[in-house]
Amino acid sequence: MAATPLLDELRAALGESAVLTDPDLLRMHQRDEADLCAAGTPLVVVRPRDTGEVVAAVRAAARHGVPVVPQGARTGLAGAANAVDGALVLSTVAMTGIREIDPVARIAVVQPGVVNATLAGAVAEQGLYYPPDPGSWESSTIGGNVATNAGGMCCVKYGVTSEYVLGLEVVLASGEVLRTGRRTAKGVAGYDLTRLFVGSEGTLGVITEVTVALRPAPEESLTLVAVFGSTTAAGTAVARIAAQGLTPSLLELLDRTHLRAIEAYRPMGLRTDAEALLLAAADTGPRAADDLARLAGLCTAAGAEEVYTATDAVEAAALLQARRLAYPAMEQLAARTYPDGAGGLILDDVAVPRGALARMLDGVARIAVECDVPIGVVGHAGDGNLHPIMVVDRADPASVARGRRAFDEIMRLGLALGGTCTGEHGVGLLKREWLAREIGPVGVRVHQAIKSALDPANLLNPGKVL
Ligand SMILES: Cc1cc2nc3c(=O)[nH]c(=O)nc-3n(C[C@H](O)[C@H](O)[C@H](O)COP(=O)(O)OP(=O)(O)OC[C@H]3O[C@@H](n4cnc5c(N)ncnc54)[C@H](O)[C@@H]3O)c2cc1C
Repeated sequence: MAATPLLDELRAALGESAVLTDPDLLRMHQRDEADLCAAGTPLVVVRPRDTGEVVAAVRAAARHGVPVVPQGARTGLAGAANAVDGALVLSTVAMTGIREIDPVARIAVVQPGVVNATLAGAVAEQGLYYPPDPGSWESSTIGGNVATNAGGMCCVKYGVTSEYVLGLEVVLASGEVLRTGRRTAKGVAGYDLTRLFVGSEGTLGVITEVTVALRPAPEESLTLVAVFGSTTAAGTAVARIAAQGLTPSLLELLDRTHLRAIEAYRPMGLRTDAEALLLAAADTGPRAADDLARLAGLCTAAGAEEVYTATDAVEAAALLQARRLAYPAMEQLAARTYPDGAGGLILDDVAVPRGALARMLDGVARIAVECDVPIGVVGHAGDGNLHPIMVVDRADPASVARGRRAFDEIMRLGLALGGTCTGEHGVGLLKREWLAREIGPVGVRVHQAIKSALDPANLLNPGKVL
């Protein structure tokens, strides 16, 4: 067993059981869900249970000049949680306390390791709603959601995680504990440090407590499906829906590749002959039926071949579940296409103004042909946020190179259309070059100045974001 002074200090502070050095466990904590991203082997994984233990771990690592890589559930899709060689991986999965749910202030205070669905379920018992719902909600943690500013299907109406983070407790690289934000409905004191840490991907501090805003539980939603003969027509429908001032509670797109992959993964009677499917919902209470009828009309006017409404909540839930299965279904498709573990996915996450969605979808189809790589598209269409997924043969460098070229072309097009290189997955390792292009040299300098003010020795999640 390794017995460096750092490990001795960690064991003394956190106890043997919270300090993991077993090679299998180290391997398990090397990477998140992003395919084809570099990952090192950590020296040690620690699982602190409270803020004091996080402080002890960060201080010990700093004393020994060892980098610290925070990790939640490792469901990230940008390599942001990947270890670097010799790092201390600080996993917050044992910090699972829901400290408080206050229905009057409409807030909850939680430790970072609480799983999204656990929080959503706990507040629902009190008639409240925590909207951010990444597809990984049954496994990803609130700490990871905050550190990536996660989105999800509800964002078209309710916005991303940052809309719900009122305050944070953060352990800085120095080991000091910073409290940001507030518990009040309003509050404007000082710089908005809470927003600074939201989406910082573990590079500025370790989040040890989160105060989130809650909403009243929405009325039951009504769901419709619109089937299109082209992704472009589906994109046009989205722009028209936005132009009419409608705010569906869900507006998701699945292309034919995804419909077929999901149907093969878990058959549920999806229209696999369609080129694209839009899934929309309205949860505005008494107006829901009217809103749904208007959504249906706009889809038909944009060229939908078929529009139908889910008959009941069970069918609506099944349709949502189909959407949530998009990524595992594509993983299975890659494995079927290139057996023996050679199937790989290069996942993109581009967001464009809604009015440019149809052009973006057109462009992705063109890029697939030009780069000679299969690309499936799924996305939070109502936000203009698409996830084009390249299926590659990782055993064939030429196939991987074609996939990477397509990835770059999609980024280039997204920025040219006034978009951003990441709508919700974050920068991590995958998008560093594209972030620099997006924010320009002044933006890079400001990012670097903030990083070096808070983490002068570059110990926190080095090599990510910038
Ligand atoms: C099937 C599937 C569907 C997905 N769907 C969506 C989706 O709809 N929307 C979306 O936005 N994302 C989605 N994701 C991506 C991923 O789930 C999110 O990025 C999620 O927020 C990551 O949470 P995590 O707990 O797994 O964090 P990790 O992957 O472990 O870490 C992510 C980042 O957060 C940092 N971090 C984690 N915990 C802390 C902490 N306590 N303090 C400081 N930094 C920390 C890490 O260093 C890393 O930079 C999906 C992933 C999968 C596999």
